[in-house]
Amino acid sequence: MAKVLCVLYDDPVDGYPKEYARDDIPKITKYPDGQTTPTPKAVDFKPGELLGSVSGELGLRKFLESQGHTLVVTSDKDGPNSAFEKELPDAEIVISQPFWPAYMTKERFDKAKKLKLIITAGIGSDHTDLQAAMDKGVTVAEVTYCNSISVSEHIVMMILALVRNYIPSYGWVIKGGWNIADCVERSYDLEGMNIGTVAAGRIGLAALRRLKPFDVKLHYYDKHRLPNEVEQELGLTFHPNVESLVKVCDVVTINTPLHPETENLFDDKLIAKMKRGSYIVNTARGKIVDRDAVVRALESGQLAGYAGDVWFPQPAPKDHPWRTMPHHGMTPHISGSSLSAQARYAAGTREILESYFANKPIRTEYLIVDKGKLAGAGAHSYTAGDATKGSEDAARFKKSA
Ligand code: NDP
Repeated sequence: MAKVLCVLYDDPVDGYPKEYARDDIPKITKYPDGQTTPTPKAVDFKPGELLGSVSGELGLRKFLESQGHTLVVTSDKDGPNSAFEKELPDAEIVISQPFWPAYMTKERFDKAKKLKLIITAGIGSDHTDLQAAMDKGVTVAEVTYCNSISVSEHIVMMILALVRNYIPSYGWVIKGGWNIADCVERSYDLEGMNIGTVAAGRIGLAALRRLKPFDVKLHYYDKHRLPNEVEQELGLTFHPNVESLVKVCDVVTINTPLHPETENLFDDKLIAKMKRGSYIVNTARGKIVDRDAVVRALESGQLAGYAGDVWFPQPAPKDHPWRTMPHHGMTPHISGSSLSAQARYAAGTREILESYFANKPIRTEYLIVDKGKLAGAGAHSYTAGDATKGSEDAARFKKSA
């Protein structure tokens, strides 16, 4: 029987919800490419419930315990004395969400002698040292597409919030003001602007589709070109490299996975090539941009705004400079963890577990590493290597909280 070690974020400070703002969520059975949403045999939760926090347990306890497995759930994930590290040596399966990632470094792989499967309940497995997973023969799977649309909605929200100067304007209302000039001195229309995405995968393309009705000029850069009919339908300009895209765009949204090719992509040099007063929205991964280069560019005016929900490490220490830099619209990592998305990735996690325990293949689309190499979605979008370096700094959050 397997021990399943699951790392989830803490419950709300006021306790696990007894009721919700809405009574139901729309039922979605297919993603835009025709792939079905997760199809486990059953689920033991009501879609729309909070599943990603400790008490939500991703709705897995009944299912796992009824089969004789052990489920351990904790939010205490960082540092050598954490509950996670204490439970790791005899765990067969580790589950965590990118929002509150269990960083699986090489050192932790060395301690996890029984580990066979790591599941990302969400998308983006960069918190796992993929090279170590390949070397140790551990399978890594994620719930591909589960929250791609959720993130694309967040991107549109953040672009509008920055360009129209929403957050400071809301602030004036809370402060009791009616300071129109203060609000509008940095407020523009999106109409007519050039907006580009770095990567046009599931999220990047969904963001482009949602931005099209704003009468903007759309651009993209990706390793692979989109079909001609999609380029025509959306009026897209393809760029053969990221420099060419950033030179002409007013707004750039970053939508690549984090892997050795994309780590630190937006450094001082690349940001200097952008138009003065550009905006960056990064909901992909914090490490794709140079943390301090972003702060410098906001302070100098090279960037007019920066928003996103991804940081490094996570949780970000209290003194992380992005909490206090000017003209930012940061949220904690939440865009892919709406209650709507949680229902899908909890069901997807269950689907992966059902396949694993029944010795059946896991959906190819869900695979990142399998049988010692990049596989499925991982083989398409990742390169081999390790992006977890520096993650031990996440332990500082506890001390500063
Ligand atoms: P996809 O795999 O559908 O898209 C990723 C795209 O990135 C692919 O088109 C891929 O290209 C492209 N790509 C990879 N490397 C490069 C590179 N070096 N240069 C240019 N393009 C590159 O994934 P999603 O769109 O669903 O998700 C993307 C990322 O967003 C995730 O990996 C994750 O990090 C992040 N994410 C964030 C969430 C949040 O809550 N904030 C939630 C979900 C995801 P190709 O396949 O053509 O080779």
